[in-house]
Amino acid sequence: MLGKVKLDDEPGRLAALHRYQVLDTGPERPFETVVSMVEDLLETPICAVNLMDADRQWFKARLGLDICETARDIAFCDHAIQQTEPLIVPDALEDPRFADNPMVAGEPHIRAYVGVPLVSPDGYQIGTLCAIDTKPRAFADHEIKLLTQFAKLVIEELELRLQAGTDELTGVMSRRYWMMTVEEEIQRAARNANLLSIAMFDIDKFKRINDTYGHAFGDRVIQSVVNACIEHLRAGSRMGRLGGEEFVLLFTECALDQAVVAAERCRRAIEAIRLTAPDGEEVRVTASFGVAPLFSYALSPDDLVEVADRALYRAKHAGRNRLEVGQVAANLYPDSA
Ligand code: GH3
Ligand code: MG
Ligand code: MG
Repeated sequence: MLGKVKLDDEPGRLAALHRYQVLDTGPERPFETVVSMVEDLLETPICAVNLMDADRQWFKARLGLDICETARDIAFCDHAIQQTEPLIVPDALEDPRFADNPMVAGEPHIRAYVGVPLVSPDGYQIGTLCAIDTKPRAFADHEIKLLTQFAKLVIEELELRLQAGTDELTGVMSRRYWMMTVEEEIQRAARNANLLSIAMFDIDKFKRINDTYGHAFGDRVIQSVVNACIEHLRAGSRMGRLGGEEFVLLFTECALDQAVVAAERCRRAIEAIRLTAPDGEEVRVTASFGVAPLFSYALSPDDLVEVADRALYRAKHAGRNRLEVGQVAANLYPDSA
């Protein structure tokens, strides 16, 4: 594995990280288990599964840390992902790289650190698994070995999810995986009294594109539509392919008006696409959107999609290339939200 590590390709590294669609998601069991086992086995008060975004480190799982992210320029882990060996700091005060670090002088008072890079199968170091102590200490070889094995487990879990949950043509979540994600996020929203919204869209008059230019070109159009949306979405928004040329977006911690703004951005980005057909003709494409807020924590993902689908149907009938907001049907009326 070590021979393949790519250290000088930051755009590739970020693409590898973003492919996992894990940033800004909630706590989940396999990762929670890993940090809790590392904390027990290494007897450190702090442990984290740490992912290195463009300008922040974000913790997918953490123990002993109150915050879920910090700026990248103070991250110990940013040093760890620049090397192929584990980063071991027995005493941060004795190490010129870290002695002045605000996380040493202040919270969480790091004195000893060990971080093992999380390496994607294509060789990108997307983050670390790290253990931290507030006292100076050494880390034994067998402890580093354990941490390395757990780091591999973390990557295997991310890979497994990616393979099980990814639509082949577009790389966004499969229908099943997106629905599962929405189910988890509804539960999380209910626990934290958070808002959540979804948007659904369907490419307009897509049959005509297929019939005129062929199925292969139709596939290219679908890919362009997805890429245009991804470019205009925040990291936490997750996109799924419901089937054919129908897609769904999940906006967590997001009120209806913000979801409408985000979906509207996608609609305009799709409208701006220009593709050249095999016969040289310029092809444009549009899509119609339906947006639905989670107006009750008792809703199922299917209920929510149904509300968005009805709004989408209205958008089609009102002339396409537009967005409608879902209305609450009497049989789904709020109970707890
Ligand atoms: P509307 O504006 O009402 O949505 O019109 P439409 O032509 O898009 O109608 P409809 O949604 O019924 O048609 C979708 C077409 O998408 C039918 C199907 O052949 C085509 N399709 C579904 N999946 C794929 C795919 O993966 N690749 C390609 N190229 N075409 C697909
Ligand atoms: Mg359709
Ligand atoms: Mg369509």
